[in-house]
Amino acid sequence: MKVTEHIKQAKKPIISLEILPPAKGKGIDSLFKVLDSFVEFKPSFINVTYHRAEQLFKKRADGNFERVEIRKRPGTVGICAAIINRYNVDAVPHMICGGFSKEETENALIDLHYLGVRNVLALRGDAAANEKFFTAHPNGHRYAEDLVGQITGLNKGIYQESDIIDGLQSDFCIGVAGYPEKHFESPNLDTDIHFLKKKIELGAEYVTTQMFFENQHYYNYVQKCRENNIDIPIIPGLKPITNKKQLSIVPSIFNVDIPLALSKELLNAKTDQACEQIGEEWLLAQCRDLLKSGTPILHFYTLGKPHIIENVLRQLF
Ligand code: FAD
Repeated sequence: MKVTEHIKQAKKPIISLEILPPAKGKGIDSLFKVLDSFVEFKPSFINVTYHRAEQLFKKRADGNFERVEIRKRPGTVGICAAIINRYNVDAVPHMICGGFSKEETENALIDLHYLGVRNVLALRGDAAANEKFFTAHPNGHRYAEDLVGQITGLNKGIYQESDIIDGLQSDFCIGVAGYPEKHFESPNLDTDIHFLKKKIELGAEYVTTQMFFENQHYYNYVQKCRENNIDIPIIPGLKPITNKKQLSIVPSIFNVDIPLALSKELLNAKTDQACEQIGEEWLLAQCRDLLKSGTPILHFYTLGKPHIIENVLRQLF
């Protein structure tokens, strides 16, 4: 079922999860263990992130360096298949522009469609580890809106190979990213929302937000989107902060603010366990407030300490 249908048909608030594929060389069992423990909460769909290959220099035996391309977390398509197979839950693969040609993207979409996947979150991706700014693949896309356009095209049977006539029309529901505290490259929130609107005009049907730790950011964002005639679902992305290190790591990776009250409490905490308790209570309060405001779905970034999210869900539902 499509993400938009899950939201439309829900009689009570629903939840969704986001997971990362395991690092190359690791098995899928630890991921299954995490997901097994979420089954009781009946997630409506599970997002699986996509990770671009990185260019690294490796020292050879002769002392020279060679450039190698390494994808540390492959397997998004396979994990989607495993989720559908094991849990009978809809999987939402993330597709990114960075590092992919349009043809590679098309082939991945064809594989996903064969597997019965009917949802895709279309993203630009970040700059490669060796780049300061994002650079598009020579035959790829510069912005997520271009990727949305390609998927919408495939939904109409338009393929990259122009000699395919009357091609099979795919049937993907397309989601895109939104940033309540604005995307870090954007000069201001209004400009960011202007480009969000472009993604929607090109076919996006819902938005999943970057994590936020102050609900007011989300409420203001939704209001601004509605004022700009964006009327599709805006799914709030949520993550617990569970240790002191995250106070600097999370803002530097995700470009989001941590509220003073939360950072103060964590800095004053005496033990790791106390930090986890504070993070859990903060997330629980965020969720309760969102549900009270009528938000129909909560999306959880499960990386890190999934048991904290489980504890929160147990208290919510
Ligand atoms: P875009 O929508 O293309 O926007 C990027 C920037 O360009 C913004 O500042 C926007 O305002 C601006 N912009 C857009 N269009 C134009 C235009 N025409 N002209 C000028 N400026 C423009 N990354 C991964 O690598 N893998 C993942 O699985 C992944 N999952 C994510 C899931 C969620 C819910 C979120 C919120 C982010 C995720 N990311 C992931 C991170 C994401 O790839 C980065 O945040 C990336 O920097 C931007 O992606 P985007 O799709 O928002 O880009």
